[in-house]
Amino acid sequence: MKLIDGKTISEKIKEEIKTEVAAIIDRDERAPHLAAILVGDDPASQTYVASKEKACKSTGITSSLYKFEEKVSEKELLSVIDFINNDNDIDGLIVQQPLPPHINSDRVVASINPLKDVDGFHPVNLGKMMLGLPSFLPATPMGILELLRRSKIDTEGKHIVVLGRSNIVGTPVALMLSRKGNPGNATVTLCHSKTDNLNDLCIQADILIAAIGKPGFVKASMVKPGAVIIDVGIHRIEDKSEKGYHITGDVEFKEVSKICGPITPVPGGVGAMTIAALLMNTLKAYRKEL
Ligand code: NAP
Repeated sequence: MKLIDGKTISEKIKEEIKTEVAAIIDRDERAPHLAAILVGDDPASQTYVASKEKACKSTGITSSLYKFEEKVSEKELLSVIDFINNDNDIDGLIVQQPLPPHINSDRVVASINPLKDVDGFHPVNLGKMMLGLPSFLPATPMGILELLRRSKIDTEGKHIVVLGRSNIVGTPVALMLSRKGNPGNATVTLCHSKTDNLNDLCIQADILIAAIGKPGFVKASMVKPGAVIIDVGIHRIEDKSEKGYHITGDVEFKEVSKICGPITPVPGGVGAMTIAALLMNTLKAYRKEL
């Protein structure tokens, strides 16, 4: 077993971004700017947005937060998005999910200018990704590919099993890894809650990506010895520690790490890469590369 150290890799990416932003500022140009919209007071969403702001600050990227009460109307939200879409000093915009039930999140995402959609959730960006055209890639799948690339894990010709078909993780990562490219060129099996014989499929995987949102779901009996394990899950489990909780993933790390090849820890694996990918996309938006 070898740890795939997402924390160290993401720090390296942030250092690269910091150097690039410093060079921009040295040229007396304005810094890249990421705006975030946060609705309501969901603690997890607040934590995610705070980490994104912190990461921006550490790399010199300007960040601004547009915060709304839970009861904000969809109309008001759409008008703020329109304002940000037309503000030439803002390069990227993220709308933290989930939104309250009275707001149609599909409509909200579709109202973001695709050229500022650094989360890569806009239908235009998802469509371009499907066609292999330049686009903003969703941050978590992009972080996973970057992790594989920088860890020199070869995906060509490999059988990759993805557990979970969400629009933000499972489906895009399966698509990205099955396309031509490096990482890519893999044969991908995408599993979900209606998949028969899940264990039989998992045990055939050279690379197993778990994104199903169930703590410790992947057991050693489901893993081929030496397989690469990418654990996307994030779960806050209450315990008697001083903090009162610990973070764990979708993989039963203790038993799986005894038989697998390279594996991402939780925390310190994929989670760390998601924010790094978001910053990479912000820089891409600033450079108007699309
Ligand atoms: P999600 O939207 O809840 O999707 C879960 C997927 O898992 C669904 O496709 C579901 O199938 C499938 N599934 C559920 N139970 C299953 C079972 N018993 N067997 C096979 N498939 C099953 O989850 P998500 O948003 O993709 O997130 C997944 C996990 O990743 C969560 O723990 C989340 O917190 C974490 N996450 C981490 C990051 C990061 O930065 N590291 C980013 C995003 C999410 P159906 O489609 O049939 O319902």
